Amino acid sequence: MPDADLVRISTARPDAAPCLGLERTTAKQVINGVHVVPMGMANAFLIEGDDGLTLIDSGYPGREAAVFGAIRGLGSSPDQLKHLIFTHGHPDHIGSAAAIVRETGARTYMHPLDIPVAESGGPFRSLTAALGLSRRMMCKLFFHPDERLEPVAIDQPLTVGEMLPIAGGIEVIHTPGHSAGHVSLLWRPGRMLFVGDVYMNLMGLGDPIGFENLEERRASQRKLASLSFDAAGFGHGVPIGRDASTYFRNEWREKSAA
Ligand SMILES: [Zn+2]
Ligand SMILES: [Zn+2]
Repeated sequence: MPDADLVRISTARPDAAPCLGLERTTAKQVINGVHVVPMGMANAFLIEGDDGLTLIDSGYPGREAAVFGAIRGLGSSPDQLKHLIFTHGHPDHIGSAAAIVRETGARTYMHPLDIPVAESGGPFRSLTAALGLSRRMMCKLFFHPDERLEPVAIDQPLTVGEMLPIAGGIEVIHTPGHSAGHVSLLWRPGRMLFVGDVYMNLMGLGDPIGFENLEERRASQRKLASLSFDAAGFGHGVPIGRDASTYFRNEWREKSAA
């Protein structure tokens, strides 16, 4: 990504931290109680709650040290990570999960439709690349359906619409399209939406690299644009610290009009 684009994003949103994994190697606070953890070219998020720490997604394989470093940076120890919630079962979101669970004993959560791939460690369902040269290239470079990972057991299947009694309340929103078992997660106390791969925020809000189902993707993007929240965290790209749902609504309106 050209430097100019990073500067443009940072200037437009001074509270946002560049977090593509190439630019930063340490965790950074997004809002009070939430920290983005760089996991290669993907993000994980740590939430501080009265019931311990919660991790959203677990990045590429071999990145567990970034999570443990972030936990220690908060003055906590790895065994204080109590919950690991996945937005979906792709290799860049579950890659370090087995190593993290081994060290922490965290309870794992995922939508039932993606559990089989996580528990087998692959192969993964194929994706149709999104439109545009950069998305097609990224899809080829970063997504390999035949990849094999260390399997991770899922302790609790997520139920669509449920409010998990974790960290003060996390709502489970089914957002299929990129992956059939994709969920977005709304952390109520901080009004922060964990978008997963429904959108990336690389050079503005945009499509992920590919889809299992194009129509479901549109419906899921529309669904998120109809919600009210303040902050947003993405599987890939720059988190947004405030006014995020306005940003989503405007982008969706522009996209729909195009
Ligand atoms: Zn994905
Ligand atoms: Zn991803």
